[in-house]
Amino acid sequence: MQINPDLQFIKFLKGAGGDTLKKCYQCATCSVVCPLSSDSKPFPRKEMIWAQWGLKDKLVADPDVFLCHQCGDCTAYCPRGAKPGDVLGAIRAYAYTHYGFPAGLAKLATSAKNLPILIGLPAIIILVCWAISGGMHLPAGGHIDFGGFFGHWDFKYLSKTVFFIDAIMLPAAGLAIFSSYMGVSTMWKKMAEGLDTKPDFRPSAVQFVMEFLWPAVQEIISHNRFNECGANKDRAKGHKPLMLAFIGLLIVTTYGFIRKDLIGIINPSMHGPIPLWDPIKILANVSAVAMIYGVFLLWGKRSNDESVSGTQATFYDWFLIYEIAAVGVSGLLAELTRLAGIGSLAYLFYYIHLVAIMMLFLYMPYTKFAHLVYRTFAMAFERYRVSNYVLNKN
Ligand code: SF4
Ligand code: SF4
Repeated sequence: MQINPDLQFIKFLKGAGGDTLKKCYQCATCSVVCPLSSDSKPFPRKEMIWAQWGLKDKLVADPDVFLCHQCGDCTAYCPRGAKPGDVLGAIRAYAYTHYGFPAGLAKLATSAKNLPILIGLPAIIILVCWAISGGMHLPAGGHIDFGGFFGHWDFKYLSKTVFFIDAIMLPAAGLAIFSSYMGVSTMWKKMAEGLDTKPDFRPSAVQFVMEFLWPAVQEIISHNRFNECGANKDRAKGHKPLMLAFIGLLIVTTYGFIRKDLIGIINPSMHGPIPLWDPIKILANVSAVAMIYGVFLLWGKRSNDESVSGTQATFYDWFLIYEIAAVGVSGLLAELTRLAGIGSLAYLFYYIHLVAIMMLFLYMPYTKFAHLVYRTFAMAFERYRVSNYVLNKN
């Protein structure tokens, strides 16, 4: 068999946390100690040799790469210091770019040297919208309401600020959803090429959701796999509140959309701020605190890994941490300065908050945040490949 290593791929892995991959001498200790690896499909030993050989196409179609939770148990026991957990993290980073759509935006989001563009793009879009809305100002004090950030108009069925926020965020969220769909469906097709299934023996959409996707989501929410990790057990303490915070904020955003954009059309009084004592407002504030708590725990954990265990500092890992911290801290500061009546600061923090949220949407499918969808579908695939749809194919 002739092997044609993709040298660019190997170079990418080395720069994205996989700098130790050449140290592996295939002893298989990592596959034995990995708490998430199954007996029938062990990892990460095979991924280490494929990575050394530069077998890019094989690795991006390998569900086991996405099943790894980067717990670090394999790294702790590797006799050669090859850090297989970090190598798998680097392969995932490559896969998100490989599957990313549009390719140009995906490539842009992989490098620290593009940070001025990554931040500047949403910052300019929102600044231009703020300027053309005619509402651009920094209030001096008194009653401050972010509902007037983009100014006011006489059209009572939709407030001007809601209109501009929709015009900015809905296309960004739409692109994230479409890009994730394109990436995950290509990944699924590649993974399924390794299975000997017949086209007329496939689950319906409902069967797919109920038998594979929903159980995977339930398992993710429970954090059962994180709890199986040994060396990095503490990571679940930061990851769980962070994940619950995102679920809470998804509920709050959906409620806000229904309240302001839909019910607000027939009842314009819904356009105003949600009272502090409203359960949804309480959920929003609790979620914001959980987000900040979770992300700073992960921040501390990552810093500690780098200084104690010599883990490579990568843009891939830090970009997501900084981005989530920016969303949480700017949102909290905007709210606190609003309540304190410091209008100019409240509006500045609110502007930064909008930029951070737009960044989260825009770059979600290509950065570490993409594990949200790719790992979920890989976990669904893990169930699918041992189901009757595959095994009883006749
Ligand atoms: S990564 Fe380390 S533990 Fe795993 S096979 Fe290679 S040398 Fe052995
Ligand atoms: S980091 Fe953890 S889950 Fe990933 S391969 Fe290593 S032991 Fe397994």
